[in-house]
Amino acid sequence: MRYNFLVVGAGFSGTVIAERIATQLDKRVLLVEKRDHIGGNAYDYYDEHGILVHKYGPHIFHTNYYEVWRYLSQFTEWNGYVHRVLAYVDGKKVPIPINRVTVNTLLGKNLSETQVKEYFDSVKVQVNAVRNARDVVVSQVGEYFYEKFYKNYTYKQWGVYPEELRPEVTRRIPVRFNDDDRYFSDKYQGLPKNGYTELFKRMLKHKNIELLLNTDYKEVVEDISFDKMIYTGPIDYFFDYQFGKLPYRSLSFQFETHDIEYFQEVAVVNYPNDFEFTRITEFKHMTLQRHPKTTIAKEYPLVDGEPYYPMPAEDALEVYKKYQKKAEKLDSVYFIGRLAEYRYYNMDQVVKRALDLFRTLAKA
Ligand code: FAD
Ligand code: UDP
Repeated sequence: MRYNFLVVGAGFSGTVIAERIATQLDKRVLLVEKRDHIGGNAYDYYDEHGILVHKYGPHIFHTNYYEVWRYLSQFTEWNGYVHRVLAYVDGKKVPIPINRVTVNTLLGKNLSETQVKEYFDSVKVQVNAVRNARDVVVSQVGEYFYEKFYKNYTYKQWGVYPEELRPEVTRRIPVRFNDDDRYFSDKYQGLPKNGYTELFKRMLKHKNIELLLNTDYKEVVEDISFDKMIYTGPIDYFFDYQFGKLPYRSLSFQFETHDIEYFQEVAVVNYPNDFEFTRITEFKHMTLQRHPKTTIAKEYPLVDGEPYYPMPAEDALEVYKKYQKKAEKLDSVYFIGRLAEYRYYNMDQVVKRALDLFRTLAKA
């Protein structure tokens, strides 16, 4: 069979590029996915109790890119959910990102917004140049809040302390002086009204797209003919690990269904200092589904397993650069997405990457 494009991976990056090519360029696409489902890590499904869950952990869509929001809105409505997270610290559940309520609850005070700012000014550590994920935090909130919220959570999640990670890891979480308790400040946020998998189905429903599930692209690549490839799997696997394996962090999810309407106050509760899991997600809070029972997932970080998080550390990035150099030399293969670019991207960022790549391809 002859295709114009072979797209590897049916996550956000692969699906968006396949949809664009098929509908806007009227070209034939073969989309190969090694898992038994579409959606990549954003995949959701109804569990045996009829509760909609995210197989690979909580996925909340948020973006400031109007282009990305408008594009996806062609395929879904949004449920309007705004993400809020609590952290369990010293026996109390307090807002994270750290805000005025967090400070007052832990310090047993009633500081105003200005006083919270003054408090942080008095305890923050002077850092000449922010070099790592620890510097980012202590230079804003000082040692006490760093230790309570970031130090141990990060160790659990990444297997190393924040000193050894790039600044952008903890820069993902803002610090606030007011009572704003939204996890994301982005203009557009929510979950697809009928779930992510439904969104993906709608994007892929086109006569020019052929989908092959349960297939590693290396099993078929010799047998099909195509002009160009878009690769969204792990870059080290593409090059047969010739510079060594890139480190990824993985997770194991322990799902539990409870015979109560709600298990916890909000969709996600983080446990920086207690237990071996990092957080508990209760899906109904974010999907807005009503159901007499509830399903939760406890997240246990792992060294090995499915590659979920590229390691945002200098030594790993050095190895990635070697692969990236090789990738740039290939004329008709394009690498996009969290695994192929080895970047801690959010969903909107990979959609943006795919839309940008599409523009380049369309011009050519
Ligand atoms: P993926 O979704 O990983 O898709 C890549 C696909 O390629 C996979 O389906 C994989 O099976 C397939 N593949 C790999 N190798 C091969 C091969 N050899 N042959 C065929 N197929 C292959 N982002 C947010 O914006 N908001 C959130 O709240 C959020 N929460 C997250 C929570 C967790 C626990 C995790 C792990 C990530 C979260 N993300 C979140 C990030 C989000 O999952 C990613 O940005 C997004 O899924 C990346 O899409 P992708 O297409 O690049 O990669
Ligand atoms: N983080 C932390 N404590 C928290 C929340 C986050 O130390 O309560 C740090 C941790 O290193 C984490 C990073 O900030 O990996 C990014 O957090 P985010 O919630 O964005 O992680 P993700 O949802 O991508 O797993």
